[in-house]
Formats: sequence, structure tokens, C-alpha cells
Amino acid sequence: MSTRRDFLQIAGLSTLALSLPLADTLAASVFSKEDKVLRVAIMGLGSYGTRVAEAMKESKRAKLVGVISGTPSKVETWRQKYGIPDKNCYNYENFDQIKENPDIDAVYVITPNSLHKPYGIRVAKAGKHVICEKPMALNAAEGREMIAACKAAGVHLLVGYRMHFEAKTLEVVRMQRAGEFGKTLFFQGLSGFIIGDPTQWRLNRELAGGGAMMDIGIYSINGSRYMLGEEPIWVTAQEVKTDPVKFKEGVDETITFQMGFPSGAVASCLSTYALNNLDKFYLDGTKGFAEMQPSTGYGPIQARTNNGPIEREHITHQTVQMDEMAAIILDGKKPVIPVDGEEGLKDLVIVDAIYEAVKTGKKVMIG
Ligand code: NAD
Repeated sequence: MSTRRDFLQIAGLSTLALSLPLADTLAASVFSKEDKVLRVAIMGLGSYGTRVAEAMKESKRAKLVGVISGTPSKVETWRQKYGIPDKNCYNYENFDQIKENPDIDAVYVITPNSLHKPYGIRVAKAGKHVICEKPMALNAAEGREMIAACKAAGVHLLVGYRMHFEAKTLEVVRMQRAGEFGKTLFFQGLSGFIIGDPTQWRLNRELAGGGAMMDIGIYSINGSRYMLGEEPIWVTAQEVKTDPVKFKEGVDETITFQMGFPSGAVASCLSTYALNNLDKFYLDGTKGFAEMQPSTGYGPIQARTNNGPIEREHITHQTVQMDEMAAIILDGKKPVIPVDGEEGLKDLVIVDAIYEAVKTGKKVMIG
């Protein structure tokens, strides 16, 4: 958020040079909504945190102003690279003190999955807005705790669903909602990649909360919901494991799952850590279809319908996401596809149901 102090500095005035009421009046008259900037601290300076930081350089509404990390050398590198003041640098032990820091509005939690809930709740208790990476938490019960904590603290809880702001995705969603595909009765979601290093946190049940489903399968879950525009009422699922050494107990390698929706639509999806070239959505209706491949990668996304290709400018997803999230938090903007805690929870309810269906071999009803 641009502050009165920034304004005074830009205007070449000091706070002391003006009586406070006058300074306030001047600042209020100069700033419009568009001038407000969301001041963000990133927690977890890993590969995705780095991608978000780079993308935020181009953001008009969000600015990286702080870091939270357990690695002092990374803090030093980021401090220099992004011009972050010392007073905005925290570690996992002391970041509750962010409460006393008026220069940070929100913390973007980009740690391994199991830390999203405990750290997200600490951020909320420190009175800062929480932006959290997907999956929002390890299961629906944890998701509900996060929502309650953010509600109690009066802060926003947003989930890093960058596809919800992607232009071609939004055009397919618009067409679907307008009935241009007729009655959409089938969705296919294919989400997967071959995972490398067996020692990484993504293959550690305690840190990841599962396997491919938590990491990449969630894109097909989420995609089925925004592409069909309804919530599933049942799931069935089957697990296949070709490498039980790499994919230990509780870490899923491949799961196929099916979902049924109130309209009679069905979704058929694959989540895997064992195959590349799986980043595809297909939506079929009585009057037309949409196909997206790649559908959720960093882009450019490719989309075509029965009417031909959808052309839209590719803008770095995380740049658009941060601009839009700033507008949600600062201006109360309502996104076309929600990115709030309730949205994150809906996916976690389905994740829980899929794991239960795998375990029991039964159809699991939702809701
Ligand atoms: P990463 O391993 O590259 O980074 C994780 C960071 O967390 C590291 O800096 C690590 O030091 C830190 N960390 C803090 N406590 C840790 C602990 N106890 N154990 C291990 N690391 C710890 O992982 P990443 O790829 O950046 O993923 C981070 C989060 O971002 C995950 O939740 C992931 O699902 C999400 N993600 C989202 C997208 C997207 O497109 N939205 C893409 C990639 C990752």
C-alpha cells in the first residue's frame, strides 16, 4: 500500500513539515485506489518462491518487500537482489514479530505443503493477510482450521490458483457459462510429470501430505470444477504403483479418478508422477468442445474450441495473479473464479474423498 509517507517523500515534503491533518488531506486527495500497492513478504525462498518474486517485479499492484526464511545466506541474496530492508527479514522462529511491522500487508506462504497450515495460521495471528500455495493444506480439516483462523483475525486467505486469472482459461469458462458448448457433460483432466530426486520433500509423506495428487492431481480436480461450473457429488478412484521404493506408503504415484456432478456431467482424470506430457483439459458439451494443452503449466497455454483457437496475450501467470490478488485484498474485487479459502477447501474435500475411495475401493459421496 502506498503510504502517506511515500507520498510526502515523492512530493518532497517531510511529515514534520506539515501538520498531520493537512498531510492526510493532501495524501487522500492525491491517491486513488489504483495507487495502492500490496506489500508482500514471501515465506519459503525455494524454486516457486523465486518464480513469484521475479514475476512480482512486473506487477503494478503487488511489491515484494519482505522475506521469511530459515537460511541466512538466501535472505542475504534476496535482500540484495530485491532491495529488501533488514527490518523486513524474518526467520521461522521470529516471524510472529511481523505483527509489529506496519510495512508488510500480506505473507505469501510458499513452503512444503505440510507447513501451509501452521505457518498460515501464525501469519493470520500476526494480523497479516495470508496468500498460500496449493494445496492450501493437507486435508479438509486443516483447511477449515485455516479459514477459521483467518476469519477470527479479520484477514484474507487466498490460494495461489494462478490459472483462475489466465486469459484463455477465463474465455473457455465464459463460453461454458454462456452455454456456447451446450450442456457440458464430460471433462477430462490429465495432470502429471516424471518426478526426479527421490529425496525431495514432494516424496515425503510428512511434508507433502501424499504424492502426485497433492501436487499436480489437484489441478485436474480444480479444473473440473471451474470448467464444468459445478461441484462434484461423488468420486471413485483407483491407485497404481510401479515403484514402491520411490513412492512409499502414503505417497501416491498414479491415481485415476472419476467424479460425478449434479447435472449428470462426469469427469475422468489422471494424476501421476510417472509420466510426462500430461497437462491437458478436455471439455465436451452437446454443442461444442474446448481443449487446452498445455492447460495448467506456466504457459503459454494453448486453447481451442469447436470454433477454432482462442488467442490471448500470454502474460506471466504469477504477475497477473499478484495484480489481481492485490485488487481482491485492497479494493474488494471479486474474481470470476474464486481464490479464497473456501475455494481451497472445496478441492481438499475432494482430495480427502479420492484418498478414501482409493482405500475403500468404494464410491464416496460428497456433501
Ligand atoms: P522448493 O523445495 O523449491 O521450496 C520450498 C522452500 O521451503 C525452500 O526454500 C525450503 O528451504 C523451504 N522450507 C521451509 N521449511 C522447510 C522444511 N521443513 N522442509 C523443506 N523445505 C522447507 O519447493 P517449491 O517447488 O517452491 O514448492 C513450494 C510450494 O509451492 C508447494 O506447496 C508447492 O505445491 C507450491 N508450488 C506451486 C506452484 C504453482 O504453480 N502454483 C508451482 C510450484 C510449487
